[in-house]
Amino acid sequence: MKNKYDMLIVGGGPAGAIAARTAAEAGNSVCLIEKRPAIGTPIRCAEGISKDILEEFVKPDRRWISADIERARIIAPNGTTVRLEQNELGNAVGYILDRKVFDRELVWQAAEAGADVLVKTRATAPIMKNGAVQGAKVVSVGTPAEIRADVVLAADGTEAQFARWAGLDTTVPLREMMSCIQYLLTDIDIDPISIDFYLGNDVAPEGYLWIFPKGERSANVGIGISGRKSRDGSRAKDYLDRFIAKNFPSGKTIEAIVGGVPVCQPLPCTVADGLMVVGDAARVVDPLTGGGIGSAMFTGRLAARVASECVSAGDCSKDALMRYDTEWRASRMGASLKRNYKIKEFFITLDDKKLNTLADSIASVNLAEFSVSALVRELIKRNPKMLFELKALKDALT
Ligand SMILES: Cc1cc2nc3c(=O)[nH]c(=O)nc-3n(C[C@H](O)[C@H](O)[C@H](O)COP(=O)(O)OP(=O)(O)OC[C@H]3O[C@@H](n4cnc5c(N)ncnc54)[C@H](O)[C@@H]3O)c2cc1C
Repeated sequence: MKNKYDMLIVGGGPAGAIAARTAAEAGNSVCLIEKRPAIGTPIRCAEGISKDILEEFVKPDRRWISADIERARIIAPNGTTVRLEQNELGNAVGYILDRKVFDRELVWQAAEAGADVLVKTRATAPIMKNGAVQGAKVVSVGTPAEIRADVVLAADGTEAQFARWAGLDTTVPLREMMSCIQYLLTDIDIDPISIDFYLGNDVAPEGYLWIFPKGERSANVGIGISGRKSRDGSRAKDYLDRFIAKNFPSGKTIEAIVGGVPVCQPLPCTVADGLMVVGDAARVVDPLTGGGIGSAMFTGRLAARVASECVSAGDCSKDALMRYDTEWRASRMGASLKRNYKIKEFFITLDDKKLNTLADSIASVNLAEFSVSALVRELIKRNPKMLFELKALKDALT
């Protein structure tokens, strides 16, 4: 381990790995630290990603793809199923990854590009000088050390402690922290090419329950409910166990994970002097789906590119790094986070009756091309009686 780098990246998830690879490929000296003893484990993810997003960052490889998905089904509380087939979804359908292998592969690529990788190395505090971040205090395999850098990328995920220690407010309101639990179930009857989403206040209040196939008879079966709906007897686990007892009584659980997903707005500012915040730490998770792998990789890559130029120019001040913040907000990803936040805020107000009405209205529609916007437009067109409520949705599209 050197004690001074151009860039220090805290966190070895998709955001940190893509940032490290990008920065090393651009010729920077890079150190990526990961607190866990091994990259990619334990996973805290349902592992779904659309093909077009994934392929923008890495060439698909069968070693880390568990399933190819050809359709999505949304199941309303009354059982009405809205089907979205591959011809409608185009490249929006995707893969179910094996993140244990995928995350490791991304970090491997960063290492091959020249980044130093330190596992079992936890950042414990930023090194600050005159209000600017200049590196991190770490504990590496039990030994305290200091790693200095021109710029630090905080890619430390949902807990986002590093940015908080450096003075950014990373609080997520309780109602916008989804409380999640997921089992990897095997020996179950599923449609191995469909991802299924169950909605309803009895199934997953202010959230959804998912089945993401991992093979012919295995799937990630999980649930996320709003933190404010979680109470004794009605925790995410209670809802999930009820669903599994009813639908997969003889399924066998071979892995269980719990975790939080922030479905709030992104941080108001994702840079400070000497610091950039990327991925879940920046709260760039899609608030509607809870998906964050794509935006983690997007922000990781963009931050590394901007940081690279700032390091070369010898200016890693907040003003100089701000281009990262401005560019991701102006990107397609930034716009879609904004729109999907409004759509999510609309959907969580609906009772089961209204969810059923909306699902019934589009269950037999064949969308020429699927997109969230196309689906919302169709809902507005087919539900004139709900026009007043749907105005919020309409506003989300403008
Ligand atoms: C139950 C569940 C299901 C999900 N399903 C999906 C899905 O299907 N599709 C999707 O796109 N997204 C999904 N997500 C979200 C997705 O997992 C995250 O958006 C994604 O992992 C974010 O990547 P990241 O690199 O920002 O953070 P992470 O992948 O969380 O990586 C952060 C890393 O930083 C490390 N770290 C933290 N603190 C420190 C420290 N102090 N020092 C050193 N290292 C540190 C952590 O150990 C971790 O490895 C799901 C999340 C949950 C909880």
